[in-house]
Amino acid sequence: MTLNDDWRQRSLAAVWHPCTQMRLHAPEGGAQPLLPIARAEGVWLHDADGARYLDGISSWWVNLFGHNHPHIRAALVDQLQRLDHVMLAGFTHAPVVELSEKLAALTGLGHAFYGSDGASATEIALKMSAHFWRNAGRPRKSRFVGVAGGYHGETVGALAVTDIALFREAYAPLLRLAATVPSPDARGAAPGEDAQAVAERAAQVLEDWLAEHHEDTAAVIAEPLVQCASGMAMHHPHYLQRLRALCTRFDVHLVLDEIAVGFGRTGTMFAHQQAGIRPDFLCLSKGLTGGTMALSAVLCTDAVYAAFYDDEVARGFLHSHSYTGNPLACRAALATLELFEQTNAINANRATAARLAAQFEGLNTHPRVQHVRQCGLIFAWDVPNHLPDFARRYARHALAQGVVLRPIGHTIYAMPPYVIDEAEGEHLARGALAALQATLNDEPAAPAAALSRGEIRDGV
Ligand SMILES: *Cc1c(COP(=O)(O)O)cnc(C)c1O
Repeated sequence: MTLNDDWRQRSLAAVWHPCTQMRLHAPEGGAQPLLPIARAEGVWLHDADGARYLDGISSWWVNLFGHNHPHIRAALVDQLQRLDHVMLAGFTHAPVVELSEKLAALTGLGHAFYGSDGASATEIALKMSAHFWRNAGRPRKSRFVGVAGGYHGETVGALAVTDIALFREAYAPLLRLAATVPSPDARGAAPGEDAQAVAERAAQVLEDWLAEHHEDTAAVIAEPLVQCASGMAMHHPHYLQRLRALCTRFDVHLVLDEIAVGFGRTGTMFAHQQAGIRPDFLCLSKGLTGGTMALSAVLCTDAVYAAFYDDEVARGFLHSHSYTGNPLACRAALATLELFEQTNAINANRATAARLAAQFEGLNTHPRVQHVRQCGLIFAWDVPNHLPDFARRYARHALAQGVVLRPIGHTIYAMPPYVIDEAEGEHLARGALAALQATLNDEPAAPAAALSRGEIRDGV
């Protein structure tokens, strides 16, 4: 038995893997073996038997500067020798203060509240928004509006503003569902319509909705520029400008979820900056620590903060997690932000994105590919096909090519670490194209079924 086989068996016996039908990993259920990873360096993941795979999706979008980055590692080791953890209620420490100062300087939003993952950031923003209106003497304003295909995490509160049926259906009785307005997804363009016109059309529906329901509405929550989990749906920044203006006009909070798109992924430090706007709440996680530690932050305006500042305890935001503001995680985040300055990452990413776009020429011009799209270092290609398990098959063929790519439904996408170099980009592009050929070779010759949308996100 190989080391890989051994870890696989032990994992199946002991671990419940996320977003997964476990039977598909079992020998009797299918042919999607778990991949045991022993170490990682830069863009590479190394399995227990020594084979390596290029991490084309940055380990679920968390990694920015490559795995095991020496600068982040050194900061973590240094922090471990000083202070591992202290509760943040009643105590404070240098890493959390410095990180909060930096995030405020980068966003114009002061007073950072911390959680441990993206879903908890969503929960915090929703609770804060509703509590703000209660403190403001308008407790009726407690409903939320989300965008079709939106994804904000999978805890019960976050799931209620997440519009992905596969994740939501089983838990429907538990959820107080948000209203859903149409997505500005540019792929929805009618003949003769451009991306801005689609954005305007979607904004008009929101306008009508808010005109009628703003008295009951606390906040609108949206992912700026790219709705990642629903299949890298991209939209025109015009939508964000309209969103901001409507929220201001109707006295409703704007919560922007940059958990996936923040920290340089779309070409600017934060995606909403491309629209020249500022939200009332900003949710951050994933890349915040460069992909090393679980940490999330919710930033808000001074007006929100002021509404909780009072002599009365109950008007405060009485929410906490045990690891809120963990020093190690904050220190990793500080080191990550230092790397943006040291490497001039935003500018460097522009050149990397242009180089990769050229390297992906084979996919971009493939006859079966539709809706080729890119936003910063996010690349996506739709492949309508007749395979019910396209995403799983593609992921398997990609691994055989030494690349980690996990399509969402029929959308292949790449979201590599920023440090990917030219040769690595070539390996990724060649592997992605070869995996597509191999997957399409599996397609039945005379398909009986109509094109199916396939699975959502990249659960197996
Ligand atoms: C991943 C993600 C979340 C949830 O973050 P978790 O850390 O997985 O809970 C929320 N919103 C967006 C946009 C995400 O991509």
